[in-house]
Amino acid sequence: MTKFIFVTGGVLSSLGKGITSASIATILKQSGLKVSMLKIDPYLNVDPGTMSPLEHGEVFVTADGAETDLDIGHYERFIDATLSAKNNFTTGQVYQSVIKREREGGYLGKTIQVIPHVVDEIKNRIISASEGYDFLIVELGGTVGDIEGLPFMEAIREIRHELPKTNTMNIHVTLIPYIAAAGELKTKPSQHSVQELRRIGITPHMLVCRTEQPLPKDLKRKLAMSCDIEYDGVIECGDAASIYQVPLNFIKEGILNPVSNHFNIKLKPNMEKWSTLVKHIILPQNEVNIAFVGKYLDLKESYKSLTEALTHAGAHLNTKININWCDSERIEDVGAYEVIGNSDAILVAGGFGHRGVLGKLDAIKYARENKVPYLGICLGMQLSIVEYCRNVLGLEEANSVEFNPEAKDPVIYLIDEFIDQSGEKQLRTHESPMGGTMRLGEYPFTPKTGTNLKKAYGNEEVYYERHRHRYEANPKYKEMLEKAGMIISGESNGLIEAVEIKDHPWFVGVQFHPEFTSHLETPNPIILKFVEQATKNI
Ligand code: GLN
Repeated sequence: MTKFIFVTGGVLSSLGKGITSASIATILKQSGLKVSMLKIDPYLNVDPGTMSPLEHGEVFVTADGAETDLDIGHYERFIDATLSAKNNFTTGQVYQSVIKREREGGYLGKTIQVIPHVVDEIKNRIISASEGYDFLIVELGGTVGDIEGLPFMEAIREIRHELPKTNTMNIHVTLIPYIAAAGELKTKPSQHSVQELRRIGITPHMLVCRTEQPLPKDLKRKLAMSCDIEYDGVIECGDAASIYQVPLNFIKEGILNPVSNHFNIKLKPNMEKWSTLVKHIILPQNEVNIAFVGKYLDLKESYKSLTEALTHAGAHLNTKININWCDSERIEDVGAYEVIGNSDAILVAGGFGHRGVLGKLDAIKYARENKVPYLGICLGMQLSIVEYCRNVLGLEEANSVEFNPEAKDPVIYLIDEFIDQSGEKQLRTHESPMGGTMRLGEYPFTPKTGTNLKKAYGNEEVYYERHRHRYEANPKYKEMLEKAGMIISGESNGLIEAVEIKDHPWFVGVQFHPEFTSHLETPNPIILKFVEQATKNI
């Protein structure tokens, strides 16, 4: 029977509930248990796929092609697992299923209500995500007291009521603010948020206290007493030098006892490899400067998986990655040399829309001509082809139809038909709505022998990486490109998945997003090789 840990948040958002949940899951996983995770998002959007990255941060894509909350990315990176569409759901999805069932007559004429129908749908989804696991960690987005969170709280309360006491645990993540003028840490906001939880019928078993100052013992005692929690269930959580240090800090703060006592299990996590990697992140031996060329640089959260993937590669190479954030529009204004001239390697990330594209092309030209290690991801690969066509092949009007639908040389184009992951035929045209017309999720590719792609991935015939894009490289130009020194180094059922340049030490463009499969313990092969090249370039 699966055991559940429900993680709620109090006082305010951005306390790191996702990292807290992932860290607890890591401790359980490293103790040899089968662990999975679920994120519930109480907003009404069906998924975050159509939300602006400025609003919501990154959209994380699962292997089965779901566009999910960025916390799912943290979960995969911490517990080294492949999650699926089941591991993230929203209010929008819950209501969509309930209303669909109502329209189909599935409720046999009953009046449909939040309790029981909506809450039952939520419970079914939680149970379904738990099947086959020893533990499911469920993180509820938002903060206690939010109106939209109430049906989920009720579902948690009901599951807790229905299962034996040693099968469910509630952890509440809260803030203990430090008031500088008074020189004091304050527990009142936490007391109030626990009162709010108890009003709904949930008394937490553990408090994870986010704080900028160490919590004195008497304050812990006060919190335990006022919130009706055992003393050893009050866990201090200060700011960490790296998110990956949080599981280690939790263990140091004594989290093992209250968890093993509550569930009546023995926990002996093996954190040896993990600690070494964290040491390499915090106290690395080498250092490299990587130019990260993108356009949403104000909100670095929209590139979360990629910056984390660089950190993983750095941890395995004992190297600190200094990311030099380069706004592609600034490159347009002042030129590539000025902005990326002293980088050990250049990365052009994925993106949508024409803003900043010229600057990205300049950065690619700079990397190609100056033989700086280059990795282009998704749009970064598409633009590598555009740049090569324009400046090497002399096709001055080469473009992606995303930026010019009438381009004379549509080297990046829209294939109207493709077979999606489930084997269904999908139609894509310029009129198709954005949501639902992208190539999403995992697709196979075959790396060509002798290429950098093959050297990075290894000797298997087929590898899988995840996609999120509408446009594809046009195979009509393949022969011309190859003759002129561009290597098509990876292909997937006739689609071009990766390109390289013959007389360049390391220039790789990939149509997929390698960052989505990078985990702390198992870094992504092509990103690892890219960072390794950067270290050779210092
Ligand atoms: N805009 C491009 C496309 O849709 C690239 C997308 C991306 O970089 N994720 O194909």
